[in-house]
Amino acid sequence: MDLKSMLEGRKISSPLVAPIKEGNTQGKAMSEANARKRKAPSATEFTLSPMIAVTVGKEPNQVTRLVHKELLTAHSAYFNACLNRVSSWKEGEENKVLLEEDDPEAFNVVVSWLYKESTALAFLDSTDSLTYSMVGPYKLADKLMIPELKNALIDRLRQKLKVRDRLMGPDQLKKIRQADLLHSSLYEFSIRQFAWTYCKLPKILYQQKEQDDALDADLELARECLSMTQKFLVDGWEDPRMEKGCVYHDHSDGSECPK
Ligand SMILES: [Zn+2]
Repeated sequence: MDLKSMLEGRKISSPLVAPIKEGNTQGKAMSEANARKRKAPSATEFTLSPMIAVTVGKEPNQVTRLVHKELLTAHSAYFNACLNRVSSWKEGEENKVLLEEDDPEAFNVVVSWLYKESTALAFLDSTDSLTYSMVGPYKLADKLMIPELKNALIDRLRQKLKVRDRLMGPDQLKKIRQADLLHSSLYEFSIRQFAWTYCKLPKILYQQKEQDDALDADLELARECLSMTQKFLVDGWEDPRMEKGCVYHDHSDGSECPK
């Protein structure tokens, strides 16, 4: 099923990303679904709801997870449309959803987060390649329209980069671009972080040959990096890892910022 068109109508809290205009009735339907954010179910409510078999990935790595319907539909506008709102979709009748193009490991993160497992985002604690490891879960949270999870991921990423004193380079920006997340707050954070580093701590980038290689191999990315660096020289901004408050979040579902 193609939900790309249904993504229209979302607004991202990023100051640099223009809101996407609603273009069709599907987009409007999803916008309305988003605007009416459902209250998170209580433990009793969701445990009494049916189990949905969500199958993720392609054989031989395909995995099926059983997840309570109320949890899926309360947090994800995608699943809400799939299982409740769009009656023509057969998923709602069969209590089955197939996500063949998606990554089973990323879906494990989504399920852990839905069930509020304390280890849900722990994968970011145990890896040095922070950006690489979070692109998969962030991309899936974006597709499934779970802004709360996207916000939790980017908050954790910024915190980890700060604590470990790590910076973003062009190779990481390239990975985010390849994941088709140009519209996302993750990309905006990353390219602002790159421009800040390039102007404030250039030696760090000059010492890393792979950063040059990444730019040489992708002229469009090189142009965007140059453009953002020029913007930084005019506007300036603080280290994006250190910014406080509601930054790089998506509240298009009408949720209030917990910050
Ligand atoms: Zn926020």
